[in-house]
Amino acid sequence: MRKISEYGLLIDYEYCTGCFACQVACCQEYGWEAGMSGMKVNEIVQQLPNDQAYLTYLPFPTELCILCKPRTKKGLQPACVKHCMANVIKWGKLKELSGELGKKSRLVLWAPK
Ligand code: SF4
Ligand code: SF4
Repeated sequence: MRKISEYGLLIDYEYCTGCFACQVACCQEYGWEAGMSGMKVNEIVQQLPNDQAYLTYLPFPTELCILCKPRTKKGLQPACVKHCMANVIKWGKLKELSGELGKKSRLVLWAPK
């Protein structure tokens, strides 16, 4: 039997456009109330010298994320993965996903508790 604890999400936020499709897809899939979702897209603004600012987006799973177990059991990709047009989010075995770490910067590996 497949153990959910062996799976996770690899998030390559370098290419995140901040479109919020992953967050919305999770809400639609599970009918979360307003303000709740298994995925939260965080907007991070870093002030730089000379009145400049650096803006980046970090999509991050919340405590509500169940790794789309009902979908993956049927052989489907998680809703957030399916709806991310920028291919930022990858679902898979932690063992395999962790092999990607270190190959580039701005990667986050997330595992459920
Ligand atoms: S992870 Fe993908 S779907 Fe989510 S905000 Fe970023 S680009 Fe959009
Ligand atoms: S894996 Fe499923 S439950 Fe988790 S954030 Fe993505 S859509 Fe939501």
